[in-house]
Amino acid sequence: MAKGNEQPGSGTAVAGAAATGAAAQTESSLFQTYARYPISLVKGKGSWLWDDQGNRYLDFMCGLAVTSLGHAPEKVGAKLKAQIDELWHVSNLFQIPGQEKAAALLTASTCADAVFFCNSGAEANEAAIKVARRYQQKVKGEDRYEVITFAQSFHGRTLATLTATGQDKVKEGFLPLPAGFVTVPLHDIPALEAAIGPKTAAIMLEMVQAEGGVYPVEPEFVKHVRKLCDEHGLLMIVDEVQTGMGRTGKLFAHEHYGVEPDVFTVAKGIGSGFPVGAMLGKGFLRDAFTPGSHATTFGGTPLASSVVIATIETMLEDHLPERAAEMGDYLMTSLRNRLAGNSFVKEVRGMGLLVGIECAEPIGDIVLAGQKRGILFVSAGPNVIRLLPNLYVSKEEIDEAVSLVATLIEEYVAAKA
Ligand SMILES: *Cc1c(COP(=O)(O)O)cnc(C)c1O
Repeated sequence: MAKGNEQPGSGTAVAGAAATGAAAQTESSLFQTYARYPISLVKGKGSWLWDDQGNRYLDFMCGLAVTSLGHAPEKVGAKLKAQIDELWHVSNLFQIPGQEKAAALLTASTCADAVFFCNSGAEANEAAIKVARRYQQKVKGEDRYEVITFAQSFHGRTLATLTATGQDKVKEGFLPLPAGFVTVPLHDIPALEAAIGPKTAAIMLEMVQAEGGVYPVEPEFVKHVRKLCDEHGLLMIVDEVQTGMGRTGKLFAHEHYGVEPDVFTVAKGIGSGFPVGAMLGKGFLRDAFTPGSHATTFGGTPLASSVVIATIETMLEDHLPERAAEMGDYLMTSLRNRLAGNSFVKEVRGMGLLVGIECAEPIGDIVLAGQKRGILFVSAGPNVIRLLPNLYVSKEEIDEAVSLVATLIEEYVAAKA
């Protein structure tokens, strides 16, 4: 088979490829979209992971806010195994009782009345953008399509959602971007008001800018967004892909603000690691999506639905949002106490078990040092250590993590001095 290391149109093979360091990368058959850590994780249980060398890690990232019930949660696993023996997939052209049940569980527990299931956060946000445009254009008959988003936000990697994202780095090399998106600075009410015009369809925001550095949005600002949406007939879309499913101490983070969005999206924590996303909306949006207007092959299959039902039921039965609130307070208080007076640490902030430690410098080396010490966490922006334990995390595990992270920070500072 002909292999394609020559660039199209370049005539001859690019002889320099190996010499320029491409050799190491071409050993893998994967596109190198990740700078992967040299660790192969092969087993997980609860808060712990093991690599193929037998090393054990305390997991304070959870696949990035995904495995909120811990690794290999037994109740969800049992439901998934039972469903595997029954039926994996049917087309959404048929009734799917599990999907109905999953949706009913979500609408019973939230301010939403209708759910569209898909497979990822970006897809859920695409559905939110599409429902906003179609509602304004088809239902209200107005030529409105523009979505206002905020600087430092993150909404996904599809063309529409990376355009909605308020960070230039995700847009590099992907021009031209789809039209119809405007980004304004967060917490800047005059800029937001100035951006609203006759084409505006929706305002979309996170309640905690997670990828952007773990910045909880000011309550007054959230209330003002709601007010502006009401005054101008705009949809308020809340991206709860990372903050949803109990992570922040409520089932959904907007509940902290006493505000009901018209649309919100969920993904990471809703499938315990199985790929699921969902767009949830108010009843008045039902007419915006009619048969044929939006669709997905894989969304809400019997297999996915069994996992969603088991995940939600477990979260509610075990009061995991409340637990996340309590453990999040304990984690943040412990970090503040342990790190008090450390001038390298600028701030400890967060909501529930979505916690950031803002440092004076980039923290990439601290992440790597943590892996050597047996703890996994990630950054949020260059300078923020982000901690995302599972919602069953114990006080003992938090104590261990706080001690490890504080020691790593102290050692980093001492090594530089
Ligand atoms: C992770 C994330 C997304 C994208 O989700 P994918 O499943 O990776 O497509 C969107 N919005 C927020 C807030 C996220 O944290």
